[in-house]
Amino acid sequence: MKITFLGTAAIGFPLSFCNCENCQKAKNHKGKSLRKRASLLINDEMIIDLGPDVQTSMMMYEKDMGKVKYLLQTHPHLDHYNEEMLIARIPYMAMKNQEKLHIVASRVCIENMSERISRYEKADLISEEGKNKLLVDPISLEKGEKINLDAYQIKAIESTHDEKHGSLLFVVTYNQKSILYATDTKMLTEEALKQLSDYKLDLIVLDHTFGNTDYTFSHLNKKSFIEQIKILKELKIVNENTLIYATHISHDGNSYHEEIEEDAVKNGYHIAYDGLELIL
Ligand SMILES: [Zn+2]
Ligand SMILES: [Zn+2]
Ligand SMILES: [Zn+2]
Repeated sequence: MKITFLGTAAIGFPLSFCNCENCQKAKNHKGKSLRKRASLLINDEMIIDLGPDVQTSMMMYEKDMGKVKYLLQTHPHLDHYNEEMLIARIPYMAMKNQEKLHIVASRVCIENMSERISRYEKADLISEEGKNKLLVDPISLEKGEKINLDAYQIKAIESTHDEKHGSLLFVVTYNQKSILYATDTKMLTEEALKQLSDYKLDLIVLDHTFGNTDYTFSHLNKKSFIEQIKILKELKIVNENTLIYATHISHDGNSYHEEIEEDAVKNGYHIAYDGLELIL
């Protein structure tokens, strides 16, 4: 199973128009400190979160957007979903040999994604006509439910990040390896932990939005990240062989990459960076 981090930032880091100390440090250090909005690519054919930087990332890391067959959408916030990407599938723009795109998300999330497409074009993710036009196969998956998509098994995990917009986290199992992609998220609920209890994860990618700050609204900071991993270890969902990576890094409480990575390693995990590839 090949994992590529297409982006590792919350709404962009350095943040547009921001001149705070951390943004300044990231601009000075460049390299791994320059982060695009969070998204993950699996086996070059499955994307988790179709954010506004995905097209750019795919080109930067020499990936082929035309080969993507599956999209898992955690939630429709602007840093995770850009409707323009799906609009570009309309036949008068994208005509030749386009693959069908299977889209897995909660019903509420699919409705929001669909409505935003239909604001601009006569296409949507709900009507047969709309789906045919975009060559998509939307599949609603609700928290606790599983689905098999060819060689992949997907499980939707409860997320309280933004329930109004149907937020979910996903476990993806392929070739007997399981990964949990858990951003955006607060501390996992009892229900979410129950939904995860059958897994021994090979990789966890977890929200680290607020780094060294003392606030956690809708997200985790460094302290709650460490606490969450501790709980998952006690439940044996995470073990000593599990790769642990932090993502959705914001300028709030997170310095340039090398500095936060050094600190993360002392605490038993790593900070992901754009373009990082892992083979499981
Ligand atoms: Zn986000
Ligand atoms: Zn800043
Ligand atoms: Zn969000």
